Amino acid sequence: MTKTVLITGGSRGIGRATAVLFAAKGWNVALSFVGNQASADETCAMCERAGFTGNVIARKCDVRDEDSVIALFEAARDRFGAIDAVVNNAGIVARQSTLADMDIDRMKAVFDTNVLGAFLVAREAARTLRSGTAIVNVSSIAAKLGSPGEYIDYAGSKAAIDTLTIGLAKELGPKGIRVNAVRPGIIETDIHASGGRPERAHELGPNCPLGRAGDPQEVAQSIFWLISGDASYVTGSILDVSGGR
Ligand code: NAP
Repeated sequence: MTKTVLITGGSRGIGRATAVLFAAKGWNVALSFVGNQASADETCAMCERAGFTGNVIARKCDVRDEDSVIALFEAARDRFGAIDAVVNNAGIVARQSTLADMDIDRMKAVFDTNVLGAFLVAREAARTLRSGTAIVNVSSIAAKLGSPGEYIDYAGSKAAIDTLTIGLAKELGPKGIRVNAVRPGIIETDIHASGGRPERAHELGPNCPLGRAGDPQEVAQSIFWLISGDASYVTGSILDVSGGR
């Protein structure tokens, strides 16, 4: 039977690459976007071009809103019957700044999306998934590095995702559900433009031990492996996909 993955923030970047990879592997894909319907439609088209044997749906969902998250899971269940994996990916950065210069609205936006939103998605996954399924949370290497002068709020929000991963893996392990995280480094996506530095990946990539920024597909491959049966004894793990950064 065709398996189904639910991916938050599947319209662009890492979420899009993950959607296309799962589609290419023959999974059904339920992806979400928050405002960019055209990008979500393009991801669906990319899934369909990827040698697709399953089906794809895209639903608007703001992870900061509880009803919206619940409705996303309901839509996926209504369309596909069951959910076999959840990729808890949606996330934002704000403009680069020192902590001293951050206003409360910006910090609330970051924590509401990256912490509250991710916890709501993880909670719905915990309520929905059955034995033999898996969750991957998308953290960031920023959780280890702290992101001084760029976005300490974002780094802190991702540290919360690491803790979520460890705790939820222990809660759900006895139910046969695995929970892991990836910690991407500098990956070439739109997120850097949101931080006011569109060329950030190009500029900082060469400083990584591997000498370049990462491609979203390289993160997607790690997410797919963590969800696949090849990682059947892996839970509570946080995998750095950061080129050694
Ligand atoms: P991106 O290209 O900016 O895409 C962000 C995605 O999240 C989009 O699909 C966006 O939807 C969605 N989104 C934003 N706010 C949302 C909300 N409130 N509710 C639901 N969806 C929302 O970002 P990315 O680089 O692929 O990042 C994906 C994840 O990887 C994030 O958690 C990020 O923190 C993490 N990460 C990225 C990097 C990197 O260098 N790129 C490094 C480490 C970790 P719309 O298209 O509708 O706006």
